[in-house]
Amino acid sequence: MALVVQKYGGTSVGSIERIKNVARRVIKTKRQGHQVIVVVSAMAGETDRLLELARQLAPQNRELNERELDVLVASGEQVSIALLAMAIETMGEKACSFLGHQVQVLTDNAHTRARIKKIDSDRIRQALADDRIVVVAGFQGIDERGNITTLGRGGSDTSAVAIAAGLQADVCEIYTDVDGIYTTDPNVCRRARKLARISYDEMLELASQGAKVLQIRSVEFAKKYAIPIHVRSSFSEVEGTLVCKEDKAMEKAIVSGIAYNKNEAKITIHGVPDRPGVAAAIFSAIAERGIVVDMIIQNVSADNSTDLTFTVPKDDFQRSLEIVSGICREIGAENVAGDEHVAKVSIVGIGMRTHANVASRMFAALARENINIQMISTSEIKVSCVVEDKYTELAVRVLHDEFQLDRELAQEEE
Ligand code: ADP
Ligand code: ASP
Ligand code: MG
Repeated sequence: MALVVQKYGGTSVGSIERIKNVARRVIKTKRQGHQVIVVVSAMAGETDRLLELARQLAPQNRELNERELDVLVASGEQVSIALLAMAIETMGEKACSFLGHQVQVLTDNAHTRARIKKIDSDRIRQALADDRIVVVAGFQGIDERGNITTLGRGGSDTSAVAIAAGLQADVCEIYTDVDGIYTTDPNVCRRARKLARISYDEMLELASQGAKVLQIRSVEFAKKYAIPIHVRSSFSEVEGTLVCKEDKAMEKAIVSGIAYNKNEAKITIHGVPDRPGVAAAIFSAIAERGIVVDMIIQNVSADNSTDLTFTVPKDDFQRSLEIVSGICREIGAENVAGDEHVAKVSIVGIGMRTHANVASRMFAALARENINIQMISTSEIKVSCVVEDKYTELAVRVLHDEFQLDRELAQEEE
């Protein structure tokens, strides 16, 4: 008998028919003799619908109370766990649903992006001992003072992996609307190829660069506690992709995947005085408001002033512009310009560590399609370019072809 954690995403529980499909699959696992904990997301579109209701209360970009936002969006998962538990019971198995606070998914108090600190497994274990299928609400937890918290978009993945870690489960399966991790988003590139395995580090980088198939923190958790994640389809039985420790076979891939992110916006400050402390003033003002800056580029100084360009999440764009405009007046910068029509396209691969010409091949491939590169950033295992957003899909496909990711052995050629 194994302890199995299965997570089903929003599309997989998007209708009563689909909830019944999940119930059947979960029951099948139980009847194979296993204990089953199911983590579910809100029904497809529900979290967006709830956030949109809140947005209607916030004219311009007035900040909403994040504690209340969490109370609001956590309700989506309450609906799906109850429906799934009832569906399971109508099919003849015992089930019990739990909200984050009932199984004590203890988090810090960073509302809307909380981190899990501890999971109290007692109640889950009792329900399992009572021969029940345990259905847990993903995405939510509770802080030390009893406030409801949520884990950020896509957070149910992290709930599932954390529960698997906390209860030392034998298997952690993430069921979704694609049948595994592909070389790039299969909904954007027809030639995307499913990977049998991918290392934690590559998956972390792909997720950080926008591949929303797994939330970044779920991969961090899995890596930290050495939990292999099996990503697979809710709608078929085919083997999916194993996210696991790097091994020898994986090292041969130069580029193993391509990710894109349309959720960032670019801010440029012109005529920034070139003196110590200026960058610190700008970026601490932004960080103090909890805004996470991604890429930063500063030009070489001319005439004692320079230009500074950086990207922020689109949701924080207006707020960032306001903050930066205020600071610019204080420090005597010339002006601030914003651009929301940008996207970041990234190539990721462990093999890049040892190959020199990967970045230049990327730039040349984009140039051949006349795609202008606005910003570049690199790390040991990724290269990212910011381009105009209308070129996102084209850039992804061009790069997929350039690095021949549709071919299984292509990466091993060099
Ligand atoms: P869920 O609701 O099940 O959590 P998500 O929408 O969060 O599902 O994630 C699944 C989606 O991730 C897929 O439909 C696909 O469009 C997207 N995706 C992006 N990059 C990849 C990739 N490299 N491999 C597979 N799916 C990807
Ligand atoms: N329902 C949440 C969201 O839409 C959490 C999740 O789906 O993982 O982001
Ligand atoms: Mg998701």
